[in-house]
Amino acid sequence: MMSSFKTQLPKSVNLPKQISRLHELSYNLWWTWHPEAARLFGRLDYELWERLGHNPIRLLREIERSRLKQAVDDKDYQKLYKTVFADFDSYFSDPKTWTHQTHPEFDSRPIAYFSMEFGLHETLPIYSGGLGVLAGDHLKEASDLGLPITAVGFMYAQGYFSQRISEDGWQEALNNMLVLEDLPVLPVLDKDGKRVTLDVELTDRSIALQIWEARVGRVPLYLLDSNVESNSEMDRLLTARLYWSDLDRRVMQEVLLGIGGVRALRTLGYNPAVWHMNEGHAAFLTLERARELVAGGASFEDAIAKTRGQNVFTTHTPVPAGNDEFPLWLIEKYLGGIYPQLNLTREQFFDIAKHQKGHSESFSMGILALRNSDGRNAVSELHGEVSRKMWNFLWADKAEKDVPITYVTNGVHTANWMARRLTNLFIKHLGSDWYEHLDQPEFWSQVDEIPDAELWAVRLHLKRKLSFYLRERVRERWTGGGFHPVQVVSSGVLINPYALTIGFARRFATYKRASLMMRDVERLLNIVNKPNMPVQILFAGKAHPADEPGKQLIQEVYRTVKKAEMGGRIVFLEDYDMNLARYLVQGVDVWMNTPRRPMEASGTSGMKAALNGALNFSVLDGWWREAYNGRNGWSIGRDEQIENSDEQDAEDAESLYSTLENEIIPLYYDRDPKEMSRGWLSRIKDNFKTNIPRFSTRRMVKQYVENLYIKALK
Ligand SMILES: *Cc1c(COP(=O)(O)O)cnc(C)c1O
Repeated sequence: MMSSFKTQLPKSVNLPKQISRLHELSYNLWWTWHPEAARLFGRLDYELWERLGHNPIRLLREIERSRLKQAVDDKDYQKLYKTVFADFDSYFSDPKTWTHQTHPEFDSRPIAYFSMEFGLHETLPIYSGGLGVLAGDHLKEASDLGLPITAVGFMYAQGYFSQRISEDGWQEALNNMLVLEDLPVLPVLDKDGKRVTLDVELTDRSIALQIWEARVGRVPLYLLDSNVESNSEMDRLLTARLYWSDLDRRVMQEVLLGIGGVRALRTLGYNPAVWHMNEGHAAFLTLERARELVAGGASFEDAIAKTRGQNVFTTHTPVPAGNDEFPLWLIEKYLGGIYPQLNLTREQFFDIAKHQKGHSESFSMGILALRNSDGRNAVSELHGEVSRKMWNFLWADKAEKDVPITYVTNGVHTANWMARRLTNLFIKHLGSDWYEHLDQPEFWSQVDEIPDAELWAVRLHLKRKLSFYLRERVRERWTGGGFHPVQVVSSGVLINPYALTIGFARRFATYKRASLMMRDVERLLNIVNKPNMPVQILFAGKAHPADEPGKQLIQEVYRTVKKAEMGGRIVFLEDYDMNLARYLVQGVDVWMNTPRRPMEASGTSGMKAALNGALNFSVLDGWWREAYNGRNGWSIGRDEQIENSDEQDAEDAESLYSTLENEIIPLYYDRDPKEMSRGWLSRIKDNFKTNIPRFSTRRMVKQYVENLYIKALK
């Protein structure tokens, strides 16, 4: 049945035979996490590669033919080509994957993974932030481990917005149609070469979806798309953007993901053994799976009892309001037709996920997912505690500690985020097979043998690379016109690659407290302008277009950035995406995170910084509360909850300033005769030893398999 559909690479542009496989490589995102593969494209024409935003499909189409010929004649290039394709071929033919060796029971038992967003690469903007990047890293790791995951998401026709910051600090959102022919997504066709489509019925109409496939190493990611001719204009836009803020479209999107996603997999012939929901957006899938059994004659109770064991739900939010909830009338409006198909009355249907708060009642996607899944997990230890407390009312007969929600702390895909120079340093000193030992803590004690001077040189290289990149970005914006000189300075042209550099980049939601640093502007001025010990702070991040307080926060930060007295040392970088994230986590010295505890369920950007040798300086929340040991970075505030948020802000700001003044800055500038800070280097090494093995998706995906997926198989 699996052969009833196909995807096909478009006809290749005319590449010389010696490098013809670049075409194939450009359509598998495997290239994004192999340390050398990107260079295979970049080296063809570095300037064009940068200008096209690292898009290999466009590069191969638009490059001068003479450049291709040069590559054919270049011995170094040919050597690189052979090495990369040898890795590529052995990757796809390797029968000895971790899954095959340790869990052969997963052979031909696909795991379906549903997520509203996937962050795989900057050229495929179908993610808004951490949730998506986590999903993308999960797929990359699953591919590496040989885990048979099949993923489902959306092909957003406009992608997530690009951000511009006006001269007075206001966020402007740009939405453009993506050109899908330029992206690594392939139309899914039936055996006659026609588009595969499927229908999702709402109460008043039916919506058709087509499917695209993105290839993530061995993992197929199916992307649903309502931009189909037979749909109305309005319905064609349903999957145009991430997270519509009007509830009507929001609920329809979630219906398409949950119900449409199950039907898409069925249409393609999949029969998954495990169904994993990354956040509650996909929770309608539990009802669609039950409906399939009810259609075969089962009662609703039996259908849920039969399917619940295979469902796994990962919650990512520490507040009830963070879970999508819909008014009951809205659910009735779109799902009114489904209760009879489940043999339920309207009231029985609502009871599955009704959330009563005071006088108001809503339909909670979180409750729907929790009730209908046997596998349930939060994303850090503290978030596990918070979740058990928050959802205790669903298991009213249980003590809080016995609420059946476990945790798997998030991780990041190491190869995807680690700088190539650092990878090479590890190859040199830890051995060429170091990556196979990634999640073995004992292995990492060898880091002590890396000579300080070599590690320091790599760090300096990465800092120079970051400041060079920022300057080139500004040049491009300035040349494009309409850019005020104050925006030029605010974008980092005055950044000094040798000064202590702090990064703060994340979604601008108020709980992240981006302006905590600015509570005492005088003190901040003294910090950044200390004679002989300058400090620079790089801010970046988007606010959801409908989040007014988030946008005001950006403006508040921008006002400080613009002050001439700051000397251009505090900057705001527009349009935070995976590309900018990569430069930042690799090139800063300190990664700062100031969430209002316990609001940061896990956080992952700090892990990307850690694996590149940037030291974390953060509130003891999410992952950092598990990671911090007193030697591998610094904490902001105490390991305690303060209920009054004004008090918490005041205490955390004081801790932030005094730790910077008394510990971080003096240590960074405490130089030996070779101009290195030995104390700093020792912290970097401790950071590598403790954080790299623990906060990788290698550890994370193995835990998903062993703690959740295996149970679901039975
Ligand atoms: C990693 C990443 C995030 C998530 O960062 P947090 O630590 O959760 O704030 C968000 N956006 C981008 C582009 C990222 O790469």
